[in-house]
Amino acid sequence: MKAAVFHKPGDIRYDTVEDPRLEQDTDVILKVTSTAICGSDLHILSGGVPQPKPMVMGHEFMGIVEEVGKGVKNLKKGDRVVVPFPISCGHCFFCQHNASPACENSNYKHYGPDGDMADQKGAALFGYTDLYGGYSGGQAEYVRVPYADISPRVVPDNMTDEQVLFLTDIFPTGWSAIDWAQLKGGEVVAIFGSGPVGLMAQKAAWINGASRVIAIDPLNYRLEKAKAVNKVDTLNPHEVDVVEAIRSMTGGRGADVCVDAVGFEPERDLLDKAKALFNFEVGSMKVLDTAFKAVRRMGTVSIMGVYGSTYDNFPLHRVFDKGITLKMGQAPVLNYIDNLIELVKTEKVVLDDIITHTLPLSEVTHGYDIFNKKEEDCVKVVLKPWEQRKEIENAEPVKIEN
Ligand code: NAD
Ligand code: ZN
Ligand code: ZN
Repeated sequence: MKAAVFHKPGDIRYDTVEDPRLEQDTDVILKVTSTAICGSDLHILSGGVPQPKPMVMGHEFMGIVEEVGKGVKNLKKGDRVVVPFPISCGHCFFCQHNASPACENSNYKHYGPDGDMADQKGAALFGYTDLYGGYSGGQAEYVRVPYADISPRVVPDNMTDEQVLFLTDIFPTGWSAIDWAQLKGGEVVAIFGSGPVGLMAQKAAWINGASRVIAIDPLNYRLEKAKAVNKVDTLNPHEVDVVEAIRSMTGGRGADVCVDAVGFEPERDLLDKAKALFNFEVGSMKVLDTAFKAVRRMGTVSIMGVYGSTYDNFPLHRVFDKGITLKMGQAPVLNYIDNLIELVKTEKVVLDDIITHTLPLSEVTHGYDIFNKKEEDCVKVVLKPWEQRKEIENAEPVKIEN
């Protein structure tokens, strides 16, 4: 089959690989109809989240069940499903306690209680490096979905792929950020990063009763998108002092809730890069520190952006003095997906208005390039594995070892 294969940092290609097969009775094979590129994939592309050998990318995908393992009860051939990105067994301690991103069984090689930088991670994630299970992802024509009775959700026939695709990751992720802050109604929510995750958090903030939603991003075209689809206020850190601006909007106190939807690879200047080298840090936590300043005393900061390294100058004093509540981690998609499907079905939310590019999977390298470099006003790329399928000159399959 054809798939998007990571080879080394900066090198993701459209390749031929072996077709996936059923490996366990509880697997299904999905024929992928749509898949998307995520900001998390950019961390693999940059090398910030390391992957030592070729891997099929992609954790945001949906499709049609093609083959069904003998032990699968809830799905049948032909079902059209979306698949949450964390892989959960459904029966371990954590899966039984609504904590599927901590599943004890799916990441059997690199799971552990420590959460180290290079070992003892949480649940496996599709297409997200050996440390997260080494499963092939869904930026491909077919994908193997393990524990198929647990996470995949059948979606209504009358909805397009685009309407429901983002239930796999970014909508539940944006939703988690807001749910973790437990809004009572009337809150000011400041969301750092107006990429796909930030845009979804903006939608979730309105639905949960925010009185004001503020988007922060250095890219004006992304702020324009946020205004157009979510009617938010916007701040560009190149143009204003973001902390001062948020305080002046909130009687000097700061936002009730801040969301970090940027992660460890924000826009950085030479000084930021030099500091990171000096401190042995990967990337930077500067956005997070701004969020700690911009949140009001006793407020909540939800961190959805990924952080994978130590930061010894972590401003613990500020978090303590202000009494900030911190919540972070991989989104527990399974806890929300059924309610969120209802919101989409009943048109309480529209998700596909953030898509700027729909490309055949054969143009995946270009898709990564424009999303990574923020070119062509790119906000979200959807890839279609079965459209304008290009033949590959060298069709010798790339060997993927799982
Ligand atoms: P993205 O790269 O498209 O968006 C990041 C945005 O942050 C960009 O628009 C960029 O311009 C902006 N930014 C850069 N520097 C900034 C600064 N100083 N202040 C404010 N904004 C700044 O990626 P995305 O798809 O929206 O993902 C965002 C983050 O969320 C990534 O780290 C991704 O890995 C993570 N993520 C986490 C989960 C989870 O379960 N926790 C799920 C999905 C994605
Ligand atoms: Zn994602
Ligand atoms: Zn489990």
